[in-house]
Amino acid sequence: VHVASQSFDFFYFVQQWPGSYCDTQQSCCYPTTGKPAADFGIHGLWPNYNDGSYPSNCDSSSPFNPSEVSDLKSSMQNSWPTLACPSGDGEQFWSHEWEKHGTCSESVLDQHAYFESALTLKQKVNLLQALKSAGITPGGSYSLKSIKDAITEAAGYTPWIECNKDSSGNYQIYQIYLCVDTSGSNLIECPMFPKGTCASEIEFPSF
Ligand code: 5GP
Ligand code: 5GP
Ligand code: 5GP
Repeated sequence: VHVASQSFDFFYFVQQWPGSYCDTQQSCCYPTTGKPAADFGIHGLWPNYNDGSYPSNCDSSSPFNPSEVSDLKSSMQNSWPTLACPSGDGEQFWSHEWEKHGTCSESVLDQHAYFESALTLKQKVNLLQALKSAGITPGGSYSLKSIKDAITEAAGYTPWIECNKDSSGNYQIYQIYLCVDTSGSNLIECPMFPKGTCASEIEFPSF
């Protein structure tokens, strides 16, 4: 039989700032469990190739199974909240992330290990605290460089900042990417950074 081998090179661990998901033209919906904390939330743990391409939807025979992660559910509600509309309790978001991305690292991390790895990674680097320590707090405007330096200092590795635009068209910090080795446990320098436009000064909106 063919045994799937590890078929990716590294992970992007991606966290989103809820204020920047919600203040766009599209707006957002709070989860049924209530307004999330004013903190970065997990978006996903995404297997990637060194050339920037990535696999997706790798195993349709492995659907998201909430019963496999029932012990993690309250942590996921706190650290991986959904902001998409209509409001949900998160299962649709987690299901999407597992099926699109998680199934592509299944040779390394089963469903429980996949979600647990992401939760553990979030605890390893407290992005909000890292920014606060550098005087960077929600409600202000900061240089992209100062944001990157603050996170590099705290994490020990260089992040990528993805920007989006608020409803007035101002660039703002939307998602923060860190790279992780194929075990899902250790941060690494990114073999390849994503692409996308930002500005030299960007907003960090409140939430
Ligand atoms: P967007 O079009 O918003 O940049 O990305 C849409 C979706 O594509 C993301 O939510 C994510 O699922 C996936 N995606 C975008 N860029 C990357 C990437 O560099 N690596 C991986 N693995 N997935 C990505
Ligand atoms: P991606 O394909 O980019 O990994 O995931 C984006 C998908 O997850 C979209 O279909 C989006 O509607 C859904 N989704 C649910 N909740 C959220 C959320 O809080 N943030 C983002 N970025 N996408 C969410
Ligand atoms: P440099 O490598 O000289 O720092 O940056 C090269 C270009 O990439 C510049 O236009 C800079 O603004 C952009 N850039 C650098 N770091 C980031 C980042 O984390 N996110 C985004 N979106 N652009 C960046």
